Amino acid sequence: MLFALTLTWVAVAPVIAQPARTAPAGPLRGAEFPVERTDWFSVINFTNDWHAPRMRFIAGTWRQIGVHEGTDIFAEPGTPVRAVIEGVVEQVGWTFYSGWRIGIRGADGRYWFYAHLREFPAGMQIGRSVDAGEAIGLVGNTGYGADAGHADEFTYHLHLGIQEADGTWVNPYPLVKRLYRAATEAGR
Ligand SMILES: [Zn+2]
Repeated sequence: MLFALTLTWVAVAPVIAQPARTAPAGPLRGAEFPVERTDWFSVINFTNDWHAPRMRFIAGTWRQIGVHEGTDIFAEPGTPVRAVIEGVVEQVGWTFYSGWRIGIRGADGRYWFYAHLREFPAGMQIGRSVDAGEAIGLVGNTGYGADAGHADEFTYHLHLGIQEADGTWVNPYPLVKRLYRAATEAGR
C-alpha cells in the first residue's frame, strides 16, 4: 500500500500544484491549511504545543535540549503537505533533528519551515517558487538521526514553524487553528 502510494506521488507530483484559494481575512490572505484533508480517513490533530520542553536521552540521562518552536500536526503517513503561503524555497534537504525539511521565504519576509517529511516532489530545490496550497512533500517521521532518511523515532506528523522577518519564531497555533476551521468548513 505504501509502495503504491509512493509511486502515485512521484507520477502526479508535477501537476498537483493548485492556485491559491481565498482563505481567512487578515494579513495572510490566501493562506492554506498545510496538511491535505481529503476524506474522513484523514485523521488530523494538533494542540498548542508551543514551547513544550523537548527532551532527549543522552548518555543515560534525559536532558532538555530545547523548547518546541512550532506546531506539530499529526496525520497519516504519506498525507500531502501543502505550502501555507506562496514563497521561494530557501532550504531543502536533511538536518539531524528536522529530518527531511523544507524552508520557504514569503515576499513579506516570513520564513515557513516544514519538517519530518517523508519525501519531496521531484524538482523541489532552492530558488523554486511555490504557490499557496502547492504540494511540497508528504507527512513522515524522519529526523533525530545523522543519516539521511533516518525515521521512526516518533509519531508521524508535520512540524510547522513560522519565523518572522526579524528572526523571531512565533507560535503558529492560532493560525493553524484558523486555517483548519476554514478548510473544514470548505469541505476540504
Ligand atoms: Zn514539532
